Amino acid sequence: MRLTVYGTRGSYPVCRAGYNRFGGNTTCLYLRSGQDQIIIDGGSGLLPLGDRLARDCDARHRVHVFLTHPHWDHVMGFPFFRPAYDARFAITIYGADSENKKLEQIFHSQYRSGSFPVAFDALPARMGFHRLQAGDEVRLVDTTVRCIQLNHPGMDLGYRFDSARGSIVILTDLAPIVGNILGLGMKERAADHPRGFEQDYQSLLVDFIKGADLVLYDTNFTEEEIVGKQHWGHSTPQEALQVLGHLDAPPGLVLAHHDPDHDDACMDEIYRLAGRAGAGQGIDVFIAKEGGSFEL
Ligand SMILES: [Zn+2]
Repeated sequence: MRLTVYGTRGSYPVCRAGYNRFGGNTTCLYLRSGQDQIIIDGGSGLLPLGDRLARDCDARHRVHVFLTHPHWDHVMGFPFFRPAYDARFAITIYGADSENKKLEQIFHSQYRSGSFPVAFDALPARMGFHRLQAGDEVRLVDTTVRCIQLNHPGMDLGYRFDSARGSIVILTDLAPIVGNILGLGMKERAADHPRGFEQDYQSLLVDFIKGADLVLYDTNFTEEEIVGKQHWGHSTPQEALQVLGHLDAPPGLVLAHHDPDHDDACMDEIYRLAGRAGAGQGIDVFIAKEGGSFEL
């Protein structure tokens, strides 16, 4: 099982001197798990990944794309995903309906005339959709995938990938829940008992991570930056460590979804401080870096 980072910026890509060391592309991860080729999110990092998949393709290929949510930084790469223009590929997109669009419509609208010159239905690859709801499970050849709803505006899914080699959890994007209920339908479900809802959400999140080897976590903000921005739907390294602190045997933590305003020096400092805090809790802390990979 090998997870490779193709993009890990939040919000928008950055291409400026001083911001290159951790990469500038938005969220896109590639998980090779036995025979399964899995992509998580299609931010601008999907372009270099797509180029590599098309170049290395020597026969018919099946690719599974799991979408966390349809915010721009997680889907902007799709219209330029080279395998979609290659008839040798069968691409299945898994994800939830958003608050105002069905899963299929999220993609069809990206290719609409006026925004893009190629219609979705004209793509040569075999495209398929698999609608998910929180709690669903998908069995691929060598991987079992499960999902939960995360605390982020709209509908956002966190994923867990289990194989014979180990387990990886991807949690992006999500915010602390206490006094900050954001997800689609969550406020309604929490109306009569908000404290109980928050506790149930926390327990579900901790259970979802339990037994995993590695968790990649949205740590977009520092503790200073998140003040007044909790409703944006992102976390801090301290919040991630606090969640993992509920586990007897916490997984390694990968800091991810880097703020586009964080330059290399700022990222170095975030990593250093999180590493030190993690060491105090017995948690190995890593940082997502474009081109970097994690092997189980
Ligand atoms: Zn995002």
